[in-house]
Amino acid sequence: VDPNRRRVEALNVGHLDANLNYSARTDIATQTPWKAPIMWEGMFDGEVYDKAHREANSSVALTVFAIGRYMEAYLKAFMISAEKHFMIGLPVTYYIFTDTPEEVPTFKLGPERSMKVLYTPHHPRWQDISMMRMKTISRIIESEISYRFPYVYCLDVDSVFEDRFGSEALGESVALMHSYFYKLPKEEFSYDRNPKSKAYMETGDYYYHAAVFGGTWRNVKAVVDSCYNGIMGDKKNNVEALWHDESHLNKYFWLHKPSKVLSPEYYWDAISLKTRPEIKKARMIWAEKRYDVLRKQ
Ligand code: UDP
Ligand code: MN
Repeated sequence: VDPNRRRVEALNVGHLDANLNYSARTDIATQTPWKAPIMWEGMFDGEVYDKAHREANSSVALTVFAIGRYMEAYLKAFMISAEKHFMIGLPVTYYIFTDTPEEVPTFKLGPERSMKVLYTPHHPRWQDISMMRMKTISRIIESEISYRFPYVYCLDVDSVFEDRFGSEALGESVALMHSYFYKLPKEEFSYDRNPKSKAYMETGDYYYHAAVFGGTWRNVKAVVDSCYNGIMGDKKNNVEALWHDESHLNKYFWLHKPSKVLSPEYYWDAISLKTRPEIKKARMIWAEKRYDVLRKQ
């Protein structure tokens, strides 16, 4: 072990969120009951965030999984659009996990941006592919990311960036409001309702989407470790939470409130939900289901 190896910590940029324009929007809530910002277009100046984060030497590790057919179906559009919109102006490293590293295409990346391809096994059940990400993310934070990047983002690969997804989305602990649920009454949130599951919860704050979460490496590690422990605890008891890793993630953020919440602008289902007046920008959208590729023999 290299004795000079030091973990990196995020510098405090809390003044940025304190200066958000919370009254810029009157059509939707811009703060949670525990006073965390809910990030909507109009509340922030991206340049102010970028400048402060550059001065704080912020950098971001982005983890993404492309296992089995998801590589061919989604990785290219994800990467090409991320190079246009994800954390532009900050150093970014993509950690791409796949069962077929040799098939990852080369991408032309901007300055201070790089990618790392890492092998991870395929699991026969898609539920396990999704859930086992939690363990893999924990390991890479422990072995590498915590020494190199103050911030981590974890995203689904079936996603396409269409507008700025920038440093305003950085924070201590960040979760995303699911675009199907943000306007529904809490009773309709699809939390796990089975008391035998570790993800069981009666009520909550919001319904969060597991396709997008982030924060400082320490906080992201706490999220994924807790979800993984819940998942393995359930396996031991022969139960599985209703929405797998997402159910455990919702339980985590109910017990440990996120310091920042992303509005559904940050992951909008533009195909089913189309447009809505409060969604001024669809920053990242759900990719179209590629059944042509996913079900190919
Ligand atoms: N995934 C993958 N290969 C699979 C299934 C899932 O790589 O066969 C990864 C991929 O990153 C995907 C994520 O796990 O975005 C979550 O799965 P999926 O997007 O299918 O779940 P959904 O968003 O439909 O709930
Ligand atoms: Mn997905």
